[in-house]
Amino acid sequence: MNMNEQIKQWNEEAQANNTDHPYRKVELFIEVRDGALEAVVPYLKQQNYHHVTLVEDEYTSAAAGEKVTQRIRDAGLVVDVVRLPPNAVGDVIADEGYIVKVLLGVADESQAVLAVGSGTIHDLVRFACYKMNCPFLSVPTAASVDGFTSAGAPLIVGGSKQTFQAVPPEAIFADLSVLANAPQAMTAAGFGDMLGKFTSLADWHVSRDLGGEPYSPLANRITEEALRACVEHVDEIAAGSQAGVEVLMNALIASGISMLMIDHSRPASGGEHHISHRIEMDFIAEGRKQVLHGAKVGVASALLADLYRDLAASQAVDALEVYRTLPTSEQMRAWLTQVGGPSMIAELGVTEEQLARALRTAHTLRNRYTGLKYMNDHQLLRS
Ligand SMILES: [Zn+2]
Repeated sequence: MNMNEQIKQWNEEAQANNTDHPYRKVELFIEVRDGALEAVVPYLKQQNYHHVTLVEDEYTSAAAGEKVTQRIRDAGLVVDVVRLPPNAVGDVIADEGYIVKVLLGVADESQAVLAVGSGTIHDLVRFACYKMNCPFLSVPTAASVDGFTSAGAPLIVGGSKQTFQAVPPEAIFADLSVLANAPQAMTAAGFGDMLGKFTSLADWHVSRDLGGEPYSPLANRITEEALRACVEHVDEIAAGSQAGVEVLMNALIASGISMLMIDHSRPASGGEHHISHRIEMDFIAEGRKQVLHGAKVGVASALLADLYRDLAASQAVDALEVYRTLPTSEQMRAWLTQVGGPSMIAELGVTEEQLARALRTAHTLRNRYTGLKYMNDHQLLRS
């Protein structure tokens, strides 16, 4: 079953189970295959888009942007290219300055915007397109994050990271030859973002049982199956082969879709994401170069795994029993190392003090119940 058939089936299941949780119908055209870039021009023609804008940076231009631009021009369509320059530390980040760059680069005549890049470029484009009421098309250049299909844009405004309402893409063109050529660190980050679902899914059960928060068995299952596929195919993902990035990209898309269907990120984001956001904000405040989102999430999830397992063992609270099902921190770190990503907090350039602060404050970033919040509320974190 390809992803489009899979989405159709999930939509039908959601419709049949809409008493569990409200569901949004997901309408998204997806191509995950070798040569998916070839499908862009036929799609533009089918949609009658004769003038579009393509947003890229210097790396993603070389990875796919130039090729897509050329194909669009060869087909006699108009494409304006917005190439985002790196900031002083060599990053493109989703902040006010870059949002304005995207908005200024999109001509009034443009009928759609193509995001060619990884998570950051997608977040900038999805937010700009939401404000301009313009469709956006996704061309991922790395299987690095589960946010491609997201409706929310995490943006840094005034130095603080917040998620804003935005739009999901209308279509995704994930070319396996492009994804397999991405730096292995980006593939490892995508794997880290997926491995983080061990703790986010466990946290979701706890937020349902102790926080009374909304829960969907369907979204839970979609995310869990995506996570299992990544663990089962860890060897291929570690090799960075087309077969590996195919499994990973489909998992990342599925995780994104589970959030899209239920209109919140609980299946995919728990304590590990709150720690990652906290660290990211510290780095921004210090003017440091960013670490890949999924790299932070994977490390944070591996760190939380044993804390959560110990929590379940020490508390004798039924709702926390789910944490006993987590893999050990050691196992999680072995998977992260195998795919070529960092596994220890020190490898991210995070100090012990920063980590201690993150463990004590990260749960305040979101109004969501997690094991991390439980540990803070019950003063169970060792100093
Ligand atoms: Zn994530």
